Amino acid sequence: MSQQMDNSHRKFLQSMMTNGIVDEQRAAMLYQQCCDTYKTKCLPDKLNDFIDTINSKLQPLFMQIRKGWSEEDGQQHYALVNVAETDISRMSSDYADYELVLFRKTIELIVVSETGQASSTDILNSTDTMTTKKLKKSETEHLLNRLVRDKWLTEKRGEYSLSTRCVIEMEPYIRTMYQEQLKMCHICHNIAFQCQICENPTCCIKIHNPCVARYFKNKSEPRCPACDDFWPHEIPEIHQPLSQSK
Ligand SMILES: [Zn+2]
Ligand SMILES: [Zn+2]
Repeated sequence: MSQQMDNSHRKFLQSMMTNGIVDEQRAAMLYQQCCDTYKTKCLPDKLNDFIDTINSKLQPLFMQIRKGWSEEDGQQHYALVNVAETDISRMSSDYADYELVLFRKTIELIVVSETGQASSTDILNSTDTMTTKKLKKSETEHLLNRLVRDKWLTEKRGEYSLSTRCVIEMEPYIRTMYQEQLKMCHICHNIAFQCQICENPTCCIKIHNPCVARYFKNKSEPRCPACDDFWPHEIPEIHQPLSQSK
């Protein structure tokens, strides 16, 4: 039986509406704050039950707080997602149709790329094949900035990738559209976009950067867990959550 929603749940939901996405530590902190404010019982291992109660009330609104994993830092995150649409038409209240066409093309470029990234040049070039309104260079750049600001894309040195929020919210869409092209991480078995790839042409497994960091930690010589070839990439540092690294 699900618990009744009280003011602490409503305050948590309001925060999620403002933030869109929070990491696990931030979610635990918010949970604590919301319970403190309304003097309700806060049990640290009951965060998921607390969120289930909110989700049961969000269901008729086709919204959900969904838990997902970030390939950027290897942390669990909670995102408030829209579950009404299976397609990115869910964004139609914020973006014009021709803008969504470009966003779909950007998702496709990122999904089919080896590195899980698309350069601004690639995205600009893809506008040539658009059958809807043609976007000018400045319009495309403006749109990409908006998609970054709205937390759909992330940008580093002119390379765009899917944000954690986008992966959590769009995963059903991406799985339906690109089932053939998708690759899974050999370690955690989640979809892998940004990752390292085994250079043995008969192997080519992918491993997320945070999974690489954890898997090769304390190994004297990094070898591919599938084919045992030498792993030639730089081993990233294990990411420390902000709240713990202080
Ligand atoms: Zn992984
Ligand atoms: Zn290999």
